Amino acid sequence: MRSTISLRSPITDVKGIGPKKAEAFSRLDLNTLEDILRFYPREYEDLRKAKKIAELKNDEKALVEGVVMMNVMGRGYGRKRTLHLSVADKTGRMEVLFFMAGFMGRTFKVGESYRFFGKVKVENGKATMFHPVFHKADEGETGIQPVYHLSAGLTRKDMKKVARAAIDHIDEYDESLPASVLEKANICPIDYAFTNIHFPEDENAYLAARYRLVFEEFFDLKVALKLSAKRFGSGRRGHSFIEGSSDEFVSSLSYELTGAQKRVLKEIEKDMDSDIAMNRLVQGDVGSGKTVVAEAAIFKAAKAGYQAAFMAPTEILATQHYENFIKAFEPFGLNIAFLSGSNTAKERNAVLSDLKAGNIDIIVGTHAIISGPVEFKNLGLVITDEQHRFGVNQRKLLSDKGENPDVLVMTATPIPRTLAVVLYSDLDISVIDELPAGRKEIITEQFNEMNRKEAYRLLIREVRAGRQAYIVAPFIEDSESIDGRSAESLYAEFTKDHPDISAALLHGGMKQKEKDEIMQAFKEGIYSVLISTVVIEVGIDVANATVMLIENSERFGLAQLHQLRGRVGRGSEQSYCFLILGDDSEIAKERADIMCESSDGFYISEKDLEIRGPGELFGYRQHGLPQLQLADPVRHVKVLDEAARLADELLSDDPDLSKEENKKFGESLRNSFGSDMLLVL
Ligand code: ADP
Ligand code: MG
Repeated sequence: MRSTISLRSPITDVKGIGPKKAEAFSRLDLNTLEDILRFYPREYEDLRKAKKIAELKNDEKALVEGVVMMNVMGRGYGRKRTLHLSVADKTGRMEVLFFMAGFMGRTFKVGESYRFFGKVKVENGKATMFHPVFHKADEGETGIQPVYHLSAGLTRKDMKKVARAAIDHIDEYDESLPASVLEKANICPIDYAFTNIHFPEDENAYLAARYRLVFEEFFDLKVALKLSAKRFGSGRRGHSFIEGSSDEFVSSLSYELTGAQKRVLKEIEKDMDSDIAMNRLVQGDVGSGKTVVAEAAIFKAAKAGYQAAFMAPTEILATQHYENFIKAFEPFGLNIAFLSGSNTAKERNAVLSDLKAGNIDIIVGTHAIISGPVEFKNLGLVITDEQHRFGVNQRKLLSDKGENPDVLVMTATPIPRTLAVVLYSDLDISVIDELPAGRKEIITEQFNEMNRKEAYRLLIREVRAGRQAYIVAPFIEDSESIDGRSAESLYAEFTKDHPDISAALLHGGMKQKEKDEIMQAFKEGIYSVLISTVVIEVGIDVANATVMLIENSERFGLAQLHQLRGRVGRGSEQSYCFLILGDDSEIAKERADIMCESSDGFYISEKDLEIRGPGELFGYRQHGLPQLQLADPVRHVKVLDEAARLADELLSDDPDLSKEENKKFGESLRNSFGSDMLLVL
């Protein structure tokens, strides 16, 4: 067997992995042995030393070896039943609980010894372990064992078997970084790193492995950013819009621009006046008024005789902007058109020919703008909203429709400046750090399991007064292995308790079209309450929504809580944000306190940087930082700095990675970043 198998072999070449299991692996994007190398364990089970039951501490994860004394299935039917075990070692007893245990009861025999690894609660001297991983004590696993994310149809053993098989062939894996970089960064080789991230020899080996992999993620990202900045013609000659001015538009507004808006508009106009192609990121908190700044830029471009394109990540956001643009620009006789997947072929063709003929000044839409043969007469300015949803190639397609058009990218993700400077050093950055005057502060309050009904009472009060509300849960459906509320169960509960209130369920498992329809109906007031996971669009504007209730708020990072809160407070009515804490850990409390004390996204993200603890479920990754699996730009900011420095050094020595010793690295980088999300143009 061993002689024929290689890293490139399909997973089915591993003994015991048949086509059915291979299908389950494939759902995790794991098809060959090699694929599992970068599928890192989600945590580890330290089987080197069991803890005594009497010494267990609250909230710790521990390994316990003990004899099952009692094995009791709870009431209920089928899968939903709970399994209670009583487990004893020489020092005491603990309870082991499995929810949704199905027929697991048969697995454990009274009188036999097992090892359990999991999270422990200790209350009044009684220890309970929830949903541990387990196996028979004499099964002989030792050392530090990986624990992987599973998909249906796969067991821990399957995962380990495949990982083991891959590591057995790790000597076939070519080093991915140039030797000079390994040496300067003082990091371990890739085979050592893979071996010890999957099967750590000890803590130090694990740390060295992890450092190397984190470094590499940052390093690849930085080099790719720099290369693509070049590819997109950053700094190349483009258009000058000096002939046009936004003054007329700005003075037509019913309000005065804030100081920050004025400053950022000036920065943009300076870029637009110059004939070097603009490549600028505008960061501004939710509600800071980015749209009007974009409108001013579009107006200037149109006045200078150029076409502008504005691209949003979803139909609903694109429509929202389209409606705003019509209101803003029609008084000036500018022509605005809309393009999305929902256009009929006839509509689309009409828009396409008008674009080509130059009858359209401004095109607003979704990806549809760049799909297929869209031609412009003279595209001068491209703006993307909530940019992180677009892949680099999509944006490149759009900018390719013109000759080095000016590019403006807008985001509401509050990335601390210190971080942005390192991550996006290749973009110019403008920050709108001021909210329009007269906004009502959103009232933020925290609740817990004891008084969560009170939060719902307040929510119902608002709904009865004609307002709308969001309820957000961390999960789509109830799950065996994690406790926390799910959107599905909340929806079932809510509609049962309040049959007279129209509520809708929205989650990430739905098709985009379905999500858009539900969102649109909520916008139109057809639903009063929207119960969802975090999928609610960034930038969605439902002025009548005044309540944001977040269940298990401890499961969300600060930046994410802030983003969610920004969905309310968009109208003239008082708005509320209710955080329901599902546990009373220090860090959950601290986060909730920060949310209650501040509404400033940049302040909040700086705090996030200070307090983010390990093991957080949602991180910056969800906010659009690409390609990072282990690396966390907040926690590993020093590594990021070092990677950025060495990326600079490498590229100044070999700008297009054509030197023999860097060639392979360059190729693999171009492959892996080719179609991926990248926050730069
Ligand atoms: P975001 O930055 O979240 O995209 P928007 O551009 O949607 O924010 O602006 C939020 C709201 O604030 C809009 O209704 C907009 O008309 C309004 N607005 C923008 N700038 C100002 C201002 N300077 N004074 C008052 N209202 C403003
Ligand atoms: Mg916006």
